[in-house]
Amino acid sequence: MKTEYRTKARAALLEFLQENSDRGFSAIDLLTYLQLNNEAVNKTTVYRNLDRLCEQGVIYKYREPDHEGWFYQYSKEHAHCNAHMHAKCSQCGKLFHIDDDFVNEFKEHVLKTYGLYVDSGKTLLVGKCANCAKV
Ligand SMILES: [Zn+2]
Ligand SMILES: [Zn+2]
Repeated sequence: MKTEYRTKARAALLEFLQENSDRGFSAIDLLTYLQLNNEAVNKTTVYRNLDRLCEQGVIYKYREPDHEGWFYQYSKEHAHCNAHMHAKCSQCGKLFHIDDDFVNEFKEHVLKTYGLYVDSGKTLLVGKCANCAKV
């Protein structure tokens, strides 16, 4: 009985992730969604689930420059979000997974020149995507 309930809540969670794969969301957004779907979840459960998905690299956790708290984004085709860098369009919210050799070169350069070890999974570049830059 209990297992069945958990599976149902998890299915609702995954549904939410898929529906929102092109935008970031907060833990409160997810909580609200689950509650609207009649899932009896609380904030603690939501945070615990989000943390687990972050560890698995299924979702990416980041901070928005002008907002409080953490934001999350689902990454279906990129399973290792804690191992590469990200860039985000500040206008439309599109997230880019920067997963190529350049990142390693960049990291080495920063380490050599500035003495900072860059934590890729926590690095977010903010800019404007090609679409939004078009006037
Ligand atoms: Zn990623
Ligand atoms: Zn954009």
